[in-house]
Amino acid sequence: MPHAGCVPEIAPPVRMPPWFARPGARSWTCAPAPAEVREFHASLPGYAPTPLIELPRLAAELGVGRVFVKDESSRLGLPAFKALGASWAVHRALAERAGHGGAADPVTLVAATDGNHGRAVAQLARLLGQRARVFVPRGVHPEAVAAIAAEQAEVTRVAGSYDDAVREAAEAAAAPDTILVQDMAWPGYERIPGWIVEGYSTLCAEIDEQVTPDLIVVPVGVGSLAQAVVTHYRSRPAGPAPALLSVESTAAPCVIESLMAGEPVSVATGETIMAGLNCGTPSSIAWPYLRGGLDAAVAVTDADSARAADDLAALGVSAGPCGAASLAGIRAALTGDGADERRAALGLGPASTVVLLSTEGRAANPTTPGRASSMPDKITVNGGRLWRSLMDLAEVGAYDDERTGLRGVNRLALTDADAEGRRLVIKWMEQAGLAVRVDRMGNIYGRREGSDPAAAPVLTGSHLDSVATAGAFDGCLGVLGGLEVVRTLNEHGITTRRPIEVCVFTEEEGVRFGTDMLGSAVAAGRLTLEYAHALTDRGGLTLGGELTRTGFDGPADVRLEPPHAYVECHIEQGPVLAEHGVEVGVVTGVQGISWQEITIHGRAAHAGTTPTHLRADAGLAAAQIIVRLRAMVDSGNYGGLRATVGHLAVHPNLTNIVPARATLTVDLRNPDDTQIAQAEEDLAAFLRSLENSRPGLTLTTRRMARTAYVSFDEDVRKAIAQAADDHGLEHVSLLSGAGHDAQEIAVLCPTAMIFVRGEYDGISHNPREYSTPEACAHGVDVLATTLLRLANQD
Ligand SMILES: [Zn+2]
Repeated sequence: MPHAGCVPEIAPPVRMPPWFARPGARSWTCAPAPAEVREFHASLPGYAPTPLIELPRLAAELGVGRVFVKDESSRLGLPAFKALGASWAVHRALAERAGHGGAADPVTLVAATDGNHGRAVAQLARLLGQRARVFVPRGVHPEAVAAIAAEQAEVTRVAGSYDDAVREAAEAAAAPDTILVQDMAWPGYERIPGWIVEGYSTLCAEIDEQVTPDLIVVPVGVGSLAQAVVTHYRSRPAGPAPALLSVESTAAPCVIESLMAGEPVSVATGETIMAGLNCGTPSSIAWPYLRGGLDAAVAVTDADSARAADDLAALGVSAGPCGAASLAGIRAALTGDGADERRAALGLGPASTVVLLSTEGRAANPTTPGRASSMPDKITVNGGRLWRSLMDLAEVGAYDDERTGLRGVNRLALTDADAEGRRLVIKWMEQAGLAVRVDRMGNIYGRREGSDPAAAPVLTGSHLDSVATAGAFDGCLGVLGGLEVVRTLNEHGITTRRPIEVCVFTEEEGVRFGTDMLGSAVAAGRLTLEYAHALTDRGGLTLGGELTRTGFDGPADVRLEPPHAYVECHIEQGPVLAEHGVEVGVVTGVQGISWQEITIHGRAAHAGTTPTHLRADAGLAAAQIIVRLRAMVDSGNYGGLRATVGHLAVHPNLTNIVPARATLTVDLRNPDDTQIAQAEEDLAAFLRSLENSRPGLTLTTRRMARTAYVSFDEDVRKAIAQAADDHGLEHVSLLSGAGHDAQEIAVLCPTAMIFVRGEYDGISHNPREYSTPEACAHGVDVLATTLLRLANQD
């Protein structure tokens, strides 16, 4: 269907925090925790109730009566609440062991931790004269690890997630005389986690002595503290029950996802400054309490939490990112679109009393001394989501390829299929919050605003058009990779200094209208808009007409304002990365390409009657050219020259007639401009000598294409290589043998490319084209970190 002259319409995205509410949670009931927990804690040396600090300024901001922060920044000698649970659980476990007559042997307490729980277990072991072994996942700050080791625990670093660390700890605890002290439960391991949860009840018991809340806001990782809070407030015999709101990180929203699913589910976790909340699966014993007793759940970004921590610090409360998540969560609930409904779901009025549980102090999480350092320097994308987008897009213009038996892609530029693919990507861009503009060449730009909107943006992208027998990756990886970077930045709540723009260039392949890199060449100013609009396809349709027909003759100016930098991620389309056994390549440049067509006119003559010395044989001359080109390559006089005669036709192409005419194409490539020019010159001289060698032989040449060698920017290349190093990815530098949009944009700004390995010798422009999900994710990880760093440059 034609969409004459308009940009496709897509509804603007609605900005709302991840949110779940359950009416009736306040009337749900359960059994209470044992009363003796409080007495046990009171008997410990150094025990004192933690302060409940009233903050009137926050009450005014949130439109409620009173706001208190339960400040757990100093609890039993640790900067977090966790020792309440660990101490009661170890007390119970050792008491039970004594009851079984095993008290004489020392035990090893084993735990996995994101920091504070492990430190609490280690401290208890030391105080009780036992041993401790603590498993620490990736991403825990070295200072947190050092604090655990300082309690004389044996620390084992696990090269995986929190869940992986828990698994290793559980395996280690299979040894005799060991006790696994884990705050996360799973089927078959529920008693000790249950005791840990009981231990946390002391925190609520203290609040009871201080204030009567209408709402408690609790950060959740696996949900143990939330279980304790639900147990406490849903087991009291009488009186109005407070509402309970859980807060988690958008990088690990396992509780909210589980509540939405109606059953416990695991989520893939990302990176977050809220290390203690970075859990992918709710605790199995917590789940029934979370499902029944929580009024609502919300998720917040790193930026929300960092801001809340700064604000609390300004009000005199030391809160780490997990502790400050409570303030970030209530803010997310009570502001923005739909805030009134969320306020009503929490039963809040202007006189309500809110208690924010600040579960840790700043010292508990050494990664975030302040906002400046809360901006991560490295981000990891969601490879599964990237892959789904690649596969979804590949369905647009898909066809069954008879030759390979595979599913191929056919999206020639500005056909209906290309337009459909473009609309899908624009929809995804809008859903990711990008402001989309389309220029007069149909080039698409999705802009993510920076904190300094006046700063030149960092540009990334590629193309969506394909050859007629394509795969799913060529061009699409660069566009959807850029989109995935944006989605990841959104999840982390990161605002870069510079804007980031994701672009789609029109007719990169050059298959339909005959000129490749067309959209980017016009955007960069090498070709004019008039030239491009007048180009026709084989059916005589103009590019300008097809832009109008598909609705992509946008209003934006086609000349691109120089970006700060351009980075394009693309499949290699060659075998070099596979040869080196690496997934990622840093592209040093695009070699010069020279295409010409040579037509040789000879004389048709009878094969039997015409003496050899009288012939003007066009076919022979063509063969001499082919042999000469190979000799030039083999001579080594032209450096890395590549020469190909890919098309050869002789006329009249009959068995017994000396060819009257021959046409052939010559494709020369060289990373050195001087050498490719020398090769062209020497070939021209050879053609002249060939012409002179035979009366009746004439040669004409027509230039088809000529691009100069483009050297990519050294600083951008270094940034890419550094990002690959920081992601632990081996990489090699290589030259691009194929042309790319990046070589056009390189005249505007510092530019470089990331190559991703292809399987089957990097075959491309074929349905067999394939890069693994892992290779794609790793390439886009490198893209993400590179863009993040470039976008934060001055
Ligand atoms: Zn491409």
